[in-house]
Parts: sequence; structure tokens; C-alpha cells
Amino acid sequence: MHLYLATTNAGKLRDFAYALTPDCTFTLLPGLDTLPVPEETADTFEGNARLKAIAYSLTQPDLLVLADDSGLEVDALQGAPGVRSARFADDHDYQTSRPLPTDRRNNLCLLDALASTPESRRGARYRCTLALARNGEVLVIADGLVEGEILAVPRGSAGFGYDPLFLLPDEGLTMAELAPAARNQHSHRARALAALLDKINKPHPAE
Ligand code: IMP
Repeated sequence: MHLYLATTNAGKLRDFAYALTPDCTFTLLPGLDTLPVPEETADTFEGNARLKAIAYSLTQPDLLVLADDSGLEVDALQGAPGVRSARFADDHDYQTSRPLPTDRRNNLCLLDALASTPESRRGARYRCTLALARNGEVLVIADGLVEGEILAVPRGSAGFGYDPLFLLPDEGLTMAELAPAARNQHSHRARALAALLDKINKPHPAE
């Protein structure tokens, strides 16, 4: 099976590239960089994954198009930043005048929001919802998650987004400290993809 990825996020693309198997290959959706980016108006990961998959699959007849919506939920922030993870600092007008990359500003904004939260209350999780669509119709939806804790000081330089702050307690490492094989084992994206392929291979009658 060949899937066309509807994301330009380099971190997500690296995760998908690592998950390649002989049974499932990926390339970027043709013309993706010239297409208008759909506005993520839903308040759930599934809603946004669906609207992206539908919009992008309508641009290329008959292709199987895979869209990803993902983010970080922090318990002490009642699940924020959640679906707003990519826009957390902007939503809070946080250091908008500093010439910093968006991921870095988001991380600083998160550290600021948790400044008075003790270590014992820094539980969090990454969630990913994948939507597979063809010709504007969603065929399969799948979710993946990974539990962790938010550190007070970033560690590691691999990965993207909130990875330097996201500790996997059992590993004693942040997502940004994991080698690619270990990352693939733990990541919410790899788990969502495994669930998606499982559903495709063993369809459930209710879906
Ligand atoms: P989306 O484009 O709305 O799905 O935004 C996803 C955002 O969530 C990213 O820009 C990151 O801030 C965050 N995020 C999602 N997945 C990951 C991950 O695997 N590592 C680090 N940050 C992630």
C-alpha cells in the first residue's frame, strides 16, 4: 500500500520515514507545498485530522491521503495546549517580538505556564490522530498516545516541538534524547500508524 502524506512538518515526516515498511510506503502528496493550508477549526485532534485529510484528498483524485493532527496535553493546564500545541505561544502573545523559532517560543511559553507547578504534578501526554481519506471521504481514523512528564529544563537535541521537555519516566530520557529506533517504539505517531494499519488489515464491522 502506498500512502500520500499531507504534512510539511519536518519532524512528523521524519517519524513517518522511520516507520516505512515493505508493506506500507509513503511519499509527500504531490503539489502539497503549493496548496492552501486548511484552517484547523475543530476542537479535537480527530476533527482536525479529518478536515485536513478531506481537504487534501480532494486535490488529487483516487490517492490514499494520510493527515496527522497531534499535540501535547498537560494535566496541570487542564489538557492545554492540546489542539493548539503548534500555536501555544502565539495564542498567549508570548514573546512574539523575539526572533526565535516557533518551537522554542512554545517551549518557553510552556515552561512559564508551569513555573509554579511541582515535579509531582507535571504529568502530560502526546496524542496523535491519523485520518486516511480518498476523494474527500475518510476511510480510517486511528489514535496513538504516549504518557510522560514535563521537565523544568530542556534536554536533548533530536526530535522537534516539545520533545526536549517531554520526559519518558521509564526510560529516564526525553523524546529529544531518544535514538530513532527507540523513538519509533515510544512515539504517539508510530502507535497511531500501527493502529491505522491494523484497522486496514483487520477491518472492524462498526467502522
Ligand atoms: P498540528 O500541525 O496541529 O498537528 O501541530 C502539532 C504540534 O504539536 C507540533 O507543532 C508540536 O508543537 C506538537 N507535537 C506534535 N507531535 C509532536 C512530537 O512528536 N514531538 C514534539 N512535538 C509534537
